[in-house]
Amino acid sequence: MIDRAREILAAGGLVAFPTETVYGLGADACNPHAVARVFAAKDRPRFNPLISHLATAEAALALARPSALAERLAKRFWPGPLTLVLPRAEDCPVDPLATAGLDTLALRVPAHPLAHALLAAFGGPVVAPSANRSGGLSPTRAEHVTTGLGDAVDLILDGGPCALGVESTVLAILEDEATLLRPGALALEAIEADVEGRVARPSSDPDRPISPGQLASHYAPRLPLRLEAIGVHADEALLAFGRDEPAGALTTRNLSPTGDLVEAAANLFHMLHELDASGARAIAAMPVPEHGLGLAINDRLRRAAAPR
Ligand code: AMP
Ligand code: MG
Repeated sequence: MIDRAREILAAGGLVAFPTETVYGLGADACNPHAVARVFAAKDRPRFNPLISHLATAEAALALARPSALAERLAKRFWPGPLTLVLPRAEDCPVDPLATAGLDTLALRVPAHPLAHALLAAFGGPVVAPSANRSGGLSPTRAEHVTTGLGDAVDLILDGGPCALGVESTVLAILEDEATLLRPGALALEAIEADVEGRVARPSSDPDRPISPGQLASHYAPRLPLRLEAIGVHADEALLAFGRDEPAGALTTRNLSPTGDLVEAAANLFHMLHELDASGARAIAAMPVPEHGLGLAINDRLRRAAAPR
């Protein structure tokens, strides 16, 4: 299967594959036609740059001009759910369409064994945004990819449910300064403990996104989403969290009855997919604490609830 997937990538095709965060829609990052097919399949705005994935930290850093801080974070957290945005190397072969013409490059080394096997077999950078239509719920199971993208994908590698379930944490590294571009599956607290300093959090003004892809409306189910729900209406589907789940919803899914944020992140998109198909009028989401993976969960829920 990996061999077939490698051939498809080399021929400019699209391969969906599991990572520890969500399923990615993979294409050869150096082939402009293949990258264009990714934007078309997702209906993704061209100004939103893609992350290049590699099998090893050495291969990833060779495409950029990493500072000492970037090298340290790469060593500590790769392979894993961290994306680093770094200045591109002079001779970086990643197609400008993939980076939206920027002089920086987003890099990640995923930890999932199937992703690793594919990237090692292919040998070069692979762009892999989430394997869904732009703006919608992210795919955390192979069947989400089939339902969402269908024939637009040449091959789907099925690795079962994604262990982490939310996208990678994205950090921009300029010299010795780290800035959070997107909260994600690697908790900010873990990064800050390691670098012994604060990671800058830019103002979250949705009209002035610091990262081109941070659109106010994103990760959206088809149904309207109501945040900070304490009670629930009979025609609503409830996305609960913790023990004090109100009764009376049409359908309920609990992200984590014990209040475990790691479990909640892993369940987030799958439960939203299920509630979205429940026949309710709207989805009501209970509050989730704003620390650890709660930062990433709340970021996704706020964007899912934003005006479209
Ligand atoms: P995804 O669509 O989940 O693959 O997310 C990619 C994220 O990384 C988006 O939010 C992009 O805007 C961001 N990103 C990718 N490349 C860059 C870059 N060169 N500078 C800033 N953000 C980037
Ligand atoms: Mg996405």
